[in-house]
Amino acid sequence: EPRLQAISQAIRVVPHFPKQGIMFQDITTLLLDHKAFKHAVDIFVHRYRDMDISVVAGVEARGFIFGSSIALGIDAKFVPLCKPGKLPGEVISEKYVLEYGTDCLELHVGAVQSSERVIIIDDLVATGGTLSAAIRLLELAGAEVVECACVIGLSDLKVRSKLNGKPLYILLEPR
Ligand code: 5GP
Repeated sequence: EPRLQAISQAIRVVPHFPKQGIMFQDITTLLLDHKAFKHAVDIFVHRYRDMDISVVAGVEARGFIFGSSIALGIDAKFVPLCKPGKLPGEVISEKYVLEYGTDCLELHVGAVQSSERVIIIDDLVATGGTLSAAIRLLELAGAEVVECACVIGLSDLKVRSKLNGKPLYILLEPR
């Protein structure tokens, strides 16, 4: 697929960021290439536009960039899933375990109605811990999580079992 090739070429890999040994996938260079960025959004929009999705939930912060563009393309609302203390209204929260310590995602009460069909968007999935917390959070709010989608998937198949049986759609799997 030439579009996937263009997307892949626009993503910069930064060795040893944010720490020694990590090969960081930097999507900010994809955003500089508006054609490649649009290809990525178009592929997601094409996949989801006829799936009766009313909510696109994006994970802070890079999931906001892709998620809000996709939401506009499929005529759905966009809902941010935020790190603790960022949302001003009443929230529900879901903790998740990181390599060192824990983190948490928050969702505004009332942002999603019970039984709404939701897709969850982030830039990248590694261990799947973030997406699985996002799924639990939206299900706590009564939503129906249809699928999770990322531009980049670093994970092996084990991660998919973490996502509560929810499908995972990814554009690129760098090795
Ligand atoms: P997981 O919870 O699946 O282990 O990690 C995924 C989360 O970490 C995502 O929110 C993603 O934005 C961030 N992340 C981890 N590694 C990278 C990376 O190499 N590049 C980018 N852009 N994000 C990363």
